Amino acid sequence: MTDSLPATLPLPTPNAESRAFWDACADGRLTFARCTACGSVQFPPQKSCTACGGVTGEASEASGQGTVFTYTINHRAPGPAFAARAPYVIALVDLAEGPRLMMNVINCAPEDVTIGMTVRITFEQRGEMALPQAEPV
Ligand SMILES: [Zn+2]
Repeated sequence: MTDSLPATLPLPTPNAESRAFWDACADGRLTFARCTACGSVQFPPQKSCTACGGVTGEASEASGQGTVFTYTINHRAPGPAFAARAPYVIALVDLAEGPRLMMNVINCAPEDVTIGMTVRITFEQRGEMALPQAEPV
C-alpha cells in the first residue's frame, strides 16, 4: 500500500499540551520541564510529572548539547518521502539535561556517526514546523 503514503515528510501533530513545545522548536529552542517535587525531567514539557504525578515548573531551554547513546543507519526508506534521504541515521541522543531523544543525525555522512559522539541540536524546517535533529559539533 505504498501508493497511499504521503510524498512529503511527515509532520508531528501538536495537541493542546505539546503546542508550546513545537512553537519553541519553530523559534529554534528545545524546551523541557523539571518536576518541582522530584526533579525528574519531563520531555517534552508537560504539566504533570510522569515519575511522581507532581506538578512541573515552567519550561526551560535545553543547552542543545548531547551525546549519541546508540544509532542505526536506515538504508530502506519507509515510504517515498524518505527515498531521497536514505541512507540516514536514526539515533538515541542523550541531552546534557538528561532526556534521551530519538532523532536523526544530519549534516554528516551516516558512516561518520559513532556511539559517544558529541552532537548539538539543530532544527530541520518542514513547512511551518521545525523538528529537533542532531548534528556533529
Ligand atoms: Zn515528579
